[in-house]
Amino acid sequence: AQEALAKADRLSYLNAFLHIDPDLTLAQAQAADNKIAKGEQSILTGIPIAHKDVFVTKGWRTTAASKMLANYTSPFDATVVSLLEQAGCVNIGKLNCDEFAMGSGNENSAFGACLNPWDTNAVPGGSSGGSAAAVAADIVLATTGTDTGGSVRQPSALCGVSGIKPTYGTVSRFGMIAFASSLDQAGPIARNARDLVELLDVMSVFDPKDSTSVMQCHGNANQQGRIKASFEKAVAHYQTNGSTPLKGLRIGVPQEYFTKGISAEVKTAIEQAIAQFVSLGAERVDISLPRTALAIPAYYVIAPAEASSNLSRYDGVRYGHRSKAYTGLEQMMSRSRTEGFGAEVQRRIMLGTYVLSQGYYDAYYLQAQRIRRMIANDFQEALQSKCDVIMGPVTPTVAKNIGDNKEDVTADWLADIYTLGVSLAGLPALSIPCGFGGEKGNRPIGLQIIGNYFNEGQLLALGDCYQ
Ligand code: GLN
Repeated sequence: AQEALAKADRLSYLNAFLHIDPDLTLAQAQAADNKIAKGEQSILTGIPIAHKDVFVTKGWRTTAASKMLANYTSPFDATVVSLLEQAGCVNIGKLNCDEFAMGSGNENSAFGACLNPWDTNAVPGGSSGGSAAAVAADIVLATTGTDTGGSVRQPSALCGVSGIKPTYGTVSRFGMIAFASSLDQAGPIARNARDLVELLDVMSVFDPKDSTSVMQCHGNANQQGRIKASFEKAVAHYQTNGSTPLKGLRIGVPQEYFTKGISAEVKTAIEQAIAQFVSLGAERVDISLPRTALAIPAYYVIAPAEASSNLSRYDGVRYGHRSKAYTGLEQMMSRSRTEGFGAEVQRRIMLGTYVLSQGYYDAYYLQAQRIRRMIANDFQEALQSKCDVIMGPVTPTVAKNIGDNKEDVTADWLADIYTLGVSLAGLPALSIPCGFGGEKGNRPIGLQIIGNYFNEGQLLALGDCYQ
């Protein structure tokens, strides 16, 4: 823990951390030492981790990278935070991200951009940019992130680390500051798939405090140990196939993921990675996800709609920023919100309020919900009859430079094309590093492996095979 704190300090120019409190960290490290002394340790005891600043943490400030919550400290821990602490993980600090997790480059943080450790001119991705950067810079072994439309997978890809968004409902949302509740799902980020197994296994427990928490899956009442057991089962199965471990595995490759927009270097890296899976015995099957492009408008209606509702709680009355200058309640609320929320958050609140308003609800919100169902059906058609998993890119290009697309606020939205559909469908997906690109060849590329509901174990086993 001391080493991690020192490294976080040395690399503070990355701006990966928003809040560090050595006393709190060292108290947790002492608790971990005590566990070890008593022989009560788990494999994660003493492992330095850090949390995205949308997970509330007792004692530590939690800001969601927003001025609105700049001085907020939660009276309780998020379920994810307490599960990892119970396992003995030591929290090194709270990580930078896009404000309320809205963004794709960590540039929407009220506390400044986070830099990509591979190339400090590049964004680390977003919204969990600090989470991916802290692992890539080797400050901590693992971090937590949240993924509403790609925010675990995309920064993992752009920082050359591994991250998984599990099936919706697998990880408790209790204490995770809400963005779009029907999409929000937490996931771990680490160096490789095997580390992700240990983390996700601890994080995936039924939580009565989250109404969409999955209670029972494969006969496992509270989910405990499910991820690890299914990972080990998949690994054991692959081991029975000798030199072609993946014999019988059908990899679906969606043609729509390789059309316009994808850069040549990303395409080549993904093709090479898939070829490697084929050389391990897998079969490549061409599939179609015909509504891929529609995921963007559907998501950017549904997510802002839910955000506009979720963020109505920041009214300056109960907690969060309150303007100093106002006359009357209404002005107090509007000034507090105007001062507290950044531009992207305000844009989404306005968009979301608009699509939910009378007269536009049917035209936008309801239509988006219909498209969401069709997108989920397209994935089911592929995963039930044509293939076992789907592989493709996470992003169309390597990380952009910090400051790019400033004039065009929706340009970043278009780059979410390969991650949004998975989120709308609630499916699990893994991102693992598969190469480098960019002018200097130092910007990482990620491979996305998508599975059917609750197939996290298999996805992680495939990631492990490749790594
Ligand atoms: N980039 C997407 C957005 O800006 C996804 C963000 C996320 O997954 N939190 O909404």
